Amino acid sequence: CGIVGYVGAQSPNARPLDVVMGGLARLEYRGYDSAGVALVTPGGLATAKKAGKLANLAGELERTPLPPATAAIGHTRWATHGAPTDVNAHPHLSADQQVAVIHNGIIENFAQLRRELTEDGVALRSETDTEVVAHLLGRAYDGDLTAAMRAVARRLRGTFTLLAVHADAPDVVVGTRHDSPLVVGLGDGENFLGSDVAAFIAHTREAMELGQDQVVTLTPDSVHVVDFDGAPVSPRRYTVDWDA
Ligand code: GLU
Repeated sequence: CGIVGYVGAQSPNARPLDVVMGGLARLEYRGYDSAGVALVTPGGLATAKKAGKLANLAGELERTPLPPATAAIGHTRWATHGAPTDVNAHPHLSADQQVAVIHNGIIENFAQLRRELTEDGVALRSETDTEVVAHLLGRAYDGDLTAAMRAVARRLRGTFTLLAVHADAPDVVVGTRHDSPLVVGLGDGENFLGSDVAAFIAHTREAMELGQDQVVTLTPDSVHVVDFDGAPVSPRRYTVDWDA
């Protein structure tokens, strides 16, 4: 339902977790039933997810603080496949726990993809349509998260905004979309992703709309966009002009 992504640790008042939690709070108006975050930390991925209000997740993060991070993604879920439980909340992880994924929308061919994975010995942990994407990305990953996302996105039917991070890519967030929105927020030494501009309006008004079937790769200092075939594209930049 709500999606936020962030890379950049330079700015002292912009810790990745705080930026993502703040963005999720600004997306609360859309409604949701669970919330979760994934951080890329020096020790690998760290995640927290909880059914219920964002306050439940915030409470969990207070009880069990996560280590400092260089990149973060966050999600508020409006369940379509699988009950609103802690396990079904996003992010979802690949089998080796190296990839974390959040998703808005519906993967219509998830049952077929799930069967394929199960037959290959992959044990799924949740009842969501989303989890297959995490496993497919983990299996497609060959040192390049963007290439893995392009390959996997091509296999998906339905509607999706997807963000992914990998434990080996400390300052990279990759996103893609099909019939579901994704906006890039351009900062100085930091960059943002959101399902709408409310996700990052507290930090920047410089934005870029990702086109249909494009993949964006964010680092603190760069934003690269390609289509599903890997050809570079230059999305339109604009300045958000409404009051936050
Ligand atoms: N279909 C996914 C799920 O049920 C994502 C729902 C959403 O857009 O929040 O987990």
